[in-house]
Amino acid sequence: LLFFCLVSVSQAEYLKYKDPKQPLNVRIRDLLKRMTLEEKIGQMTQIERLNATADVMKKYFIGSVLSGGGSVPAPKASPEAWVQMVNEMQKGSLSTRLGIPMIYGIDAVHGHNNVYNATIFPHNVGLGVTRQVFICSNEDPVLVKRIGEATALEVRATGVPYVFAPCIAVCRDPRWGRCYESYSEDPRIVRTMTEIIPGLQGDIPGNSRKGVPYVAGKNKVAACAKHYLGDGGTNKGINENNTLISYNGLLSIHMPAYYDSIVKGVSTVMVSYSSWNGIKMHANKDLVTGYLKNKLRFRGFVISDWQGIDRITSPPHANYSYSVQAGISAGIDMIMVPYSYTEFIDILTSQVKNGIIPMSRIDDAVSRILRVKFTMGLFENPYADQSLVNQLGSKEHRELAREAVRKSLVLLKNGKSAGNPILPIPKKTGKILVAGSHADNLGYQCGGWTIQWQGLGGNDLTVGTTILDAVKQTVDADTEVVYNENPDENFVKSSKFSYAIVVVGEPPYAETFGDSLNLTIAQPGPSTIHNVCGSIKCVVVLITGRPVVIQPYLSDIDALVAAWLPGTEGQGVADLLFGDYGFTGKLARTWFKTVDQLPMNVGDKHYDPLFPFGFGLTTQPTKY
Ligand code: BGC
Repeated sequence: LLFFCLVSVSQAEYLKYKDPKQPLNVRIRDLLKRMTLEEKIGQMTQIERLNATADVMKKYFIGSVLSGGGSVPAPKASPEAWVQMVNEMQKGSLSTRLGIPMIYGIDAVHGHNNVYNATIFPHNVGLGVTRQVFICSNEDPVLVKRIGEATALEVRATGVPYVFAPCIAVCRDPRWGRCYESYSEDPRIVRTMTEIIPGLQGDIPGNSRKGVPYVAGKNKVAACAKHYLGDGGTNKGINENNTLISYNGLLSIHMPAYYDSIVKGVSTVMVSYSSWNGIKMHANKDLVTGYLKNKLRFRGFVISDWQGIDRITSPPHANYSYSVQAGISAGIDMIMVPYSYTEFIDILTSQVKNGIIPMSRIDDAVSRILRVKFTMGLFENPYADQSLVNQLGSKEHRELAREAVRKSLVLLKNGKSAGNPILPIPKKTGKILVAGSHADNLGYQCGGWTIQWQGLGGNDLTVGTTILDAVKQTVDADTEVVYNENPDENFVKSSKFSYAIVVVGEPPYAETFGDSLNLTIAQPGPSTIHNVCGSIKCVVVLITGRPVVIQPYLSDIDALVAAWLPGTEGQGVADLLFGDYGFTGKLARTWFKTVDQLPMNVGDKHYDPLFPFGFGLTTQPTKY
């Protein structure tokens, strides 16, 4: 027996690609030369979790799996259940001939937003307001970077090593349904917010790895800058539409944040559904291969959007062979959810065999995917462990989210006349009315991309604090808080309130479902404002993914606060309303008067906003 063992050990082949001591490029080359065409194309395929049984992973050599918006193992799945699910798929991948681990990806665009009990941070539209980076010092690490670190821990707590974030769109028109996923209309702010990338992935050691993907280890995740390029510039803000802009305009507005992301070692870049001057980005070889890969020297992998190559033709997948050829030739390396992954694999295989797609293109794609997997240590640590499960929704992360909420609010009006501020509200003040459809609704507070793709109403959505809860927890024990979602004028007048807090805004939405031409507050918000603000001192708090029509109500309102989509920690709103902290936020978007002014951005010739870019009143904290 001893003899047999010795022989089999000595016969076990030394595989360079499995040796972490080998240089990265040696490992990539060694593995690539062992792979069949089938194995390579499998690496380029990303499928939805529901299709990803261990058998499918093994049979098709699938390189990656994702949870699309709201696709979870169970409605309130625990982190342990996630870990188990991901590991089950990984088992399939590791049992293939070469044992290449798959990489699981998820949208974590404001915290780990598909997962029950995760900390939900403000959406990017709010984070752009914080502009921490302009005043950062070594003692005060940039807020978004800390958010990236916390998000990475919560995502890894569920066994997931890859996020489709950050969205570095520069939203130039708030009619766009994804405007809240954008930090600002100003590329300079979006650039500074790419600091979330070292938070998610870790800091690149030294200065020498420009363009090379970097993920520090098991507590970090691979990030994805999206959506390349010009997603936020589409005509009238119509989602996935055409961005009509000169080449110089494209480079100066939409490109700079990609440059920064690449310098910071972003692992992947996602292509936009939109077109630039009529050419679908998914088929734009000049911008994907020419600019991103060759000029900027991006060395991570380029991923398509969900069925993004299908949409190269109109209607989608009308001519699927053409779409596959155009997308792969443009330089896309990993295909997110081809509408039929088996058809995609068959078509691409025959295109390579027939010389339509050169093997060098496939090798480029696979090398990039392997580079990310090797760099992040997936070969050494393919299985998730449960050591991080306590990170999900931890007290520290919720405190951080609360701080982010405080820094993301913008005070737009404070008092009907100068010198008569009404904020902060004293904690001891008789009776306070809290009203409005958004005052006690965690789902509304979190917005789209929270548990469900479109977001949902309701308080059992996940764990968090509504603004109503927060007000109750903040006021003095002698102060009575009365909640009435939509009171009539008589109720308001007869009850002698000292203050009212009216929380109204937009319902949740995502992507095209959020496109809006009128940008109005959801009903009955306007009548709630009218009924309450006419008669008593009122503070209106807007829960919204973008500036909305507010001018018609402004004269009735005593104080106006843009709270954007603050997430689970509503306490941050009360921290400011009652003066535990002062307001500091400055608009990262222009607030229009009427929608017919749109698009209107800072720097435009005819700039006539209601509240200009950069506007924001301040208050001093109250000493209690
Ligand atoms: C969105 C992407 C997202 C992907 C996966 C697409 O519909 O455009 O931003 O990452 O779905 O959920």
